[in-house]
Amino acid sequence: MKAAVLESQPGDLVVADISIDKPGPDEVVLQTAACGLCHSDLHAIDGHLPIPVPAVLGHEAAGIVQAVGADVTELASGDRVVACLSAFCGACRECTAGRTWLCEVRHGLNRGPDEASRLSRDGVGLNQLAGLGGFAEELLVHRNSVVKVPDELPLDRGALLGCAVVTGIGSVFNGAKVAPGSTVAVIGTGGIGLNIVQGAVLAGAERVIAVDLHAEKLELATTFGATDVINASDVDPVEAVIELTSGGVDYSFEAIGLPQTAGQAFQMIRPGRTAYLVGLPAAGATIELPGTQMLMQARGLQGLFMGSNRFKEDIPMLANLYLQGRLKLDELIAGRIGLADVNDGYQRMREGTEARSVVTFE
Ligand SMILES: [Zn+2]
Ligand SMILES: [Zn+2]
Repeated sequence: MKAAVLESQPGDLVVADISIDKPGPDEVVLQTAACGLCHSDLHAIDGHLPIPVPAVLGHEAAGIVQAVGADVTELASGDRVVACLSAFCGACRECTAGRTWLCEVRHGLNRGPDEASRLSRDGVGLNQLAGLGGFAEELLVHRNSVVKVPDELPLDRGALLGCAVVTGIGSVFNGAKVAPGSTVAVIGTGGIGLNIVQGAVLAGAERVIAVDLHAEKLELATTFGATDVINASDVDPVEAVIELTSGGVDYSFEAIGLPQTAGQAFQMIRPGRTAYLVGLPAAGATIELPGTQMLMQARGLQGLFMGSNRFKEDIPMLANLYLQGRLKLDELIAGRIGLADVNDGYQRMREGTEARSVVTFE
């Protein structure tokens, strides 16, 4: 089958013929329908997120179950599923406490070094980004990496539920627990930021302020329900948010992954509130905060990973909100591309002007 392989870091993806093994007892094989282009893959491509290479990238995927391992009872051939990188063991301390998104042994769900590799190319094993590797015609993954979704859900939109949507909405619902009537600011209105915006609207926020550098993305944020937009290339976003809200917001979310914007998120909240870091920073990045202000104004900065999701429950819920017309997914997709065009898609992401590109497989 064909897959997009990262051979070295940094480096472009190379579309190559690779081999896929049979499923083990707790594994499933999917025919991939679609895989979204996410910024975390770009970190790997640009060398800002070190991973073992060669690797198949892509972690925002959906597909149709082709085969299941001997012990898999909850899925069957023909089921439509969405994948999520928050695979969980169900037995470690975090999983048993209900924090499956922080599973301590996630990487142990992949095959070990003494087992046959799930994917290989000319006899050489290939790493799967996040245990997935969605830029491939087929996926071989652990059963706790996927969840069944309703048959009516189009899978090109369903794929986005597995990263951008579950992370954005989950950060609002599960992480920050945004209260009705509150004020919210979102810095960065790409795939995740737009979902924080629509999550805040669903949560009943009175005011949802979107901050970005690109006018076209701010316009899109308005269609997702932002009540105010701030173009940070024209004005200081901290001053603008404080002025708009007479003193700051109740919740701010940083959805880019830059120390500078994390600092801005921290500065635009009211005292006693928390700013949330949702975008993935480059490996080794550090964030400096003013300690006196943090203590005397009781401000917090909290990282949220993957929307604190329990995706086996969250993704079907999000699919139903979409099917009821209450969640926007169609508008997230800037373009559908073939596997061969994946590098061009990431180049457009570097330019930062559009929401999501999705690789679709015929
Ligand atoms: Zn992602
Ligand atoms: Zn676990």
